Amino acid sequence: MGFKCVHCSSEEYPIIKKKISGSGWVLFIVLILFCIPLCWLPFVIDSCKEEEMYCKGCGIKLG
Ligand SMILES: [Zn+2]
Repeated sequence: MGFKCVHCSSEEYPIIKKKISGSGWVLFIVLILFCIPLCWLPFVIDSCKEEEMYCKGCGIKLG
C-alpha cells in the first residue's frame, strides 16, 4: 500500500493495535461513577477505540 517508515525506511506493513481513545476513557470514568455494572462498555464499543500503527522494523509509533 505504499507504506514506508520515515525512521528506518522499512516497507513492511505496520502493526495495528487498538486501544481505548480519550473519549472512551471519559465514558469509562462516567460509567464507573454513575453506572458501575456498565463500565465495561467502552471496551467493546468500536467508536470508543482508536487504532495505532507501529512500524514492524523499528517499532516506532506512526500515528
Ligand atoms: Zn521503522
